[in-house]
Amino acid sequence: TDHSDQSRPPVMQRTLVIFKPDCVQRRLVGQILQRFEAKGLRIAALKMIQVGRELGEQHYAEHKERPFFPGLIGFITGGPVVVGVLAGPEAVSVVRGMMGKTSGIEAAPGTIRGDFSVSKQNNLIHGSDSPESAAREIALWFKAEDVLDYDLAGSGWVYEA
Ligand code: GDP
Ligand code: MG
Repeated sequence: TDHSDQSRPPVMQRTLVIFKPDCVQRRLVGQILQRFEAKGLRIAALKMIQVGRELGEQHYAEHKERPFFPGLIGFITGGPVVVGVLAGPEAVSVVRGMMGKTSGIEAAPGTIRGDFSVSKQNNLIHGSDSPESAAREIALWFKAEDVLDYDLAGSGWVYEA
């Protein structure tokens, strides 16, 4: 996902984003989605759901041995989320960069977590950490036919040829 090798042309990717329960409760969904749209990412899927324990545990399976896991599952199932798929050039690393570091205390100003969070857990947003994670997570949260491919008018002004 590191796109620092400038010789490699940008790859069109999809990534999963979750506007976590704290984001919904703080009414920041629109403001944060606006950042992704303004950046040039395309919304390929978007829905609001109440996450059940099983889906939460599957999504965060890599953390199941961590001490914060029970609290994390309580958090992600503690209220509705908005979950979506964003698409665009190097979408995985672009979204991770816009999110900032996991802890809102450490995240740089200008990033989503840096601007809106002072918590390690309540950090507003999830974004897939690699193209492999994105594929796994998109399949977990969405039916294939509900992730849409379409052209945006004027995309020639946003994307390189
Ligand atoms: P991310 O990829 O930046 O979201 O971070 P991780 O994959 O490491 O952790 C997944 C999620 O678990 C984070 O976004 C936080 O909501 C939560 N989390 C991570 N580390 C901690 C921690 O040390 N304590 C608590 N309470 N929550 C954590
Ligand atoms: Mg992670």
